[in-house]
Amino acid sequence: MFKRMDEVLIEIPTVEKPDANAAAAVQELLGGKFGEMSTLNNYLYQSFNFRSKSKLRPFYDLIMSITGEELGHVELVAHAINKCLNGSTTAGQPDSTPLGGVKDARLSYHFLAGAQGAMPFDSMGNPWTGAYVFNSGNLVEDLLHNFFLECGARTHKMKVYEMTDHPAARAVVGYLLVRGGVHVVAYAKALEVATGVNVTKLVPIPSLSNKAFNETRKYEEKGVHTKLYTYSDKDFTTINEIWKGTHPEDGAQLEVIQGVPQGYPIPEAPGVEEEFAPGISAEEFRQIAKRLKEAGNIAD
Ligand code: MN
Ligand code: MN
Repeated sequence: MFKRMDEVLIEIPTVEKPDANAAAAVQELLGGKFGEMSTLNNYLYQSFNFRSKSKLRPFYDLIMSITGEELGHVELVAHAINKCLNGSTTAGQPDSTPLGGVKDARLSYHFLAGAQGAMPFDSMGNPWTGAYVFNSGNLVEDLLHNFFLECGARTHKMKVYEMTDHPAARAVVGYLLVRGGVHVVAYAKALEVATGVNVTKLVPIPSLSNKAFNETRKYEEKGVHTKLYTYSDKDFTTINEIWKGTHPEDGAQLEVIQGVPQGYPIPEAPGVEEEFAPGISAEEFRQIAKRLKEAGNIAD
């Protein structure tokens, strides 16, 4: 089971810089084949279907705990997309064509199917599909796939970083490059425990270091690339049998943290009148407040 908090993994910059096409590019990291919905659902199904967990506990614990982190990544990328979309249009009467400015946006679903929010689609508007989930049930094959998936996800993040300099997109992608890098190394180390092959010699793939990115370097300087979280108050402790020793790139000491990282507030999204969202007028707000008061027996 999962526990939820009204927080995200990093502080998303409060900058107002509407860029609908940047939002579309970032969608690849949400609902693309190598996006966060894919990493989340691959590990989710591998954890549901895991066999002989009592004999293979560290591998099971690893997949369970990384699943928890990926859910937070889906959430974080969604908020980056929302931040890129924020302020794309201004309210006006229908005859003033208030949505006219985004007619040529790359992804019109952001404005037509939704109200300027993230969707489970890739950068071209293709819906995420369960066909992106790989779960053979063979432990080595699944770990090898996960290692490849994280390397592919890393490549996509690097390209999206190169495609947009939107501060919210960059902040989120920079952080996710670090955390994705942790998962690359974690699956490499898991393969080493399972097979004896020194897979960490392959990293980084692509060969460019995370230290080449301004928004990534600042996290690595704080050691974010050395920590793996259990994402549980008390379970999944045996990940320390895999996440141990030193980082293959800079030799830093690796560390398991029981629990979750520090969270940051989720900023409030303003109403978008020209999209009829949330579609509650000032008078209706008053009526709702009155009904809530009555239900709670609160006197005026
Ligand atoms: Mn991720
Ligand atoms: Mn990952």
